[in-house]
Amino acid sequence: MKPKSKDLKKAVTVAKNASLKRVLNQNEKIKKTVVQAASELTSVNEVLKQGKEAKIPAQIIKDAISQNKEVEYKVAKAGDDLHQVNTELAKEMIVRLGLESELSDTKADLADVRDDLLKSQAKEEETRKFALHDALTGLPNRELFEQSFDNGLIQAKRHGWRLAVLFIDIDNFKNINDTYGHDMGDKVLIMVAERLKSSVREEDIISRWGGDEFVCLLLEVKQEADVTRFAENMVNQISESCEYNKTVLSIKTSIGIAIYPADGETAEILFKKADSAMYKAKGTERGVMLFRESL
Ligand code: GH3
Ligand code: MG
Repeated sequence: MKPKSKDLKKAVTVAKNASLKRVLNQNEKIKKTVVQAASELTSVNEVLKQGKEAKIPAQIIKDAISQNKEVEYKVAKAGDDLHQVNTELAKEMIVRLGLESELSDTKADLADVRDDLLKSQAKEEETRKFALHDALTGLPNRELFEQSFDNGLIQAKRHGWRLAVLFIDIDNFKNINDTYGHDMGDKVLIMVAERLKSSVREEDIISRWGGDEFVCLLLEVKQEADVTRFAENMVNQISESCEYNKTVLSIKTSIGIAIYPADGETAEILFKKADSAMYKAKGTERGVMLFRESL
């Protein structure tokens, strides 16, 4: 098993410091020995020089010659020591290079693991998004909407809020496909999705329910009248003309509304009522119907 990067780094630093200290100490010792040997050699030379001039007794010259041999020995030993120190230094360098290359391998391995992790996270996020969003408009799909609706109901029950469910359907959408082609139909669906999204607050949810149907969940509703006004505004915004390849269209929509808790306490009941109000809204001038108004 490879050591952890942090441990390895520490080991390299400790090894570097220990070996450098030892080598420097040894070098220092050798330097002192050589300096001492040089000074001894100078004094020996002095003695020999004076001996040559016959001022020094023979015994002193003999001693100087033997001292000269000692100095020679010391210098030779210093040379040996230096060789040994250099050999050790070379060994330390090899170990250090090995540790450093292992450290950089470990770093590269960790970077690979991190890259793989980031890639798989991004892929997971993409898959999750794909599974919960509509591919054409990018809006939350039915499944995500139902989850949000359940959460919204829990919050509303806890805080005593009202919620509004809006069922939105494009009028005569089939005609657009039949007259201008499926691609034009797609463009209209995208345009409706964008206009719906821009008409709600950040915390509200717009979802594509399927085909030409959309649903909207308004959280923390204060007045029922606010919701009908809001829905009328949606119908008006969507109906503003749009142009595709020189074809100008005005899209009409119908919206049915059900409100929690007045129209029902479960998501299922509220959906049904909003859907039935939407059918009643079709063909009316306003294009908007609150469930109770449709009874
Ligand atoms: P109504 O006024 O009663 O709502 O009628 P409509 O024509 O709008 O509704 P209908 O349910 O008859 O037609 C909806 C059409 O939407 C049928 C289907 O082919 C088309 N459609 C469903 N999904 C898509 C899509 O993703 N792209 C396009 N271009 N058309 C779609
Ligand atoms: Mg329709």
